Amino acid sequence: MPNEHFSQQIIEWYHVHGRKTLPWQLDKTPYRVWVSEIMLQQTQVATVIDYYQRFMAKFPTNSDLANAPDDEVMHLWTGLGYYARARNLHKTAKIIRDQYDGQFPVEFEQVLDLPGIGRSTAGAVLSLSLGQPHAILDGNVKRVLTRHFAIEGWYGVSKVEKRLWKISEELTPNKDTTLYNQAMMDLGASHCSRSKPQCDLCPVQKSCIAFAQDRTKEFPNSKPKKVTPVRNTLMLIMQSQTQVHLIKRPNQGIWGGLHCFPEFDDKKSLNDWLDQQSFGGVLKEMPALRHTFSHYHLDITPYHLTLVQSCDQLVMEGNAIWYNLANPPQVGLASVTQALLNDITLD
Ligand code: SF4
Repeated sequence: MPNEHFSQQIIEWYHVHGRKTLPWQLDKTPYRVWVSEIMLQQTQVATVIDYYQRFMAKFPTNSDLANAPDDEVMHLWTGLGYYARARNLHKTAKIIRDQYDGQFPVEFEQVLDLPGIGRSTAGAVLSLSLGQPHAILDGNVKRVLTRHFAIEGWYGVSKVEKRLWKISEELTPNKDTTLYNQAMMDLGASHCSRSKPQCDLCPVQKSCIAFAQDRTKEFPNSKPKKVTPVRNTLMLIMQSQTQVHLIKRPNQGIWGGLHCFPEFDDKKSLNDWLDQQSFGGVLKEMPALRHTFSHYHLDITPYHLTLVQSCDQLVMEGNAIWYNLANPPQVGLASVTQALLNDITLD
């Protein structure tokens, strides 16, 4: 199928069926599209809409975001997951403020140099907001292309990814790139969805190889399976009336910049630590829970300590805070912290 014919069919389909009124599709600027593209990574549109609107209400411009305290940014991201995205977004906003006079750069290479922005995101921001002719290859586009051209192999392998980029570049028109890229993302998110593609409604069904061979479920090929390792940890939830003790993590590593409960390797280290402190109270084991990261499962055994002292009698170290459940401060919480907070009651 000639490339122009493919892109034409996709664009025509978009005119009739595509989404055109999502909050980031109105009043498009590179800043607004960039924030939406970062939020949409690994997250569904329906989940992102509210987060995006709250974020934009608080940080309508790059300067508002760049000048905001870390905790305020992480607070607005709490629940959206993949927190490195928020940290990079904030870091990048500061770079744009300091190196580009607060104006989002419009040269592809400059955009690609910014933290947290890969080739596809750079292409999406510049094509969707300014109409520049750059190809994209996000998860939705990968799914459409691997099925349509029956591309074998997991797309995390560099050879497969390179092939997909080549196809994407060949198909992307120089004119109407905005519409074509938006349409490809929409097609992947709607008719060419992961579990049940609706091929009968697809504008490129006639040329789709996976459809012709009745192999749509095989594509994209899955990542070869590995056994996911399991790690164990203990978390201590110290509570003094309405206040619980939380520690802000360093910016690097898991849950970077978020507030979490202190962790211990085993019960002995927890007891040793408690013995060294001057706390008095009742320690109770809570039901265990599992949190899964991309590389491992973390099995958590939480312990709840109801303190007899009031929290202002206790000395706090460095990054620790007393988090008031009755009047929660605006700080970023790891999803596990939030889940455990939901399980405890106010005394
Ligand atoms: Fe996807 Fe089906 Fe369209 Fe092929 S025909 S691109 S599998 S929706």
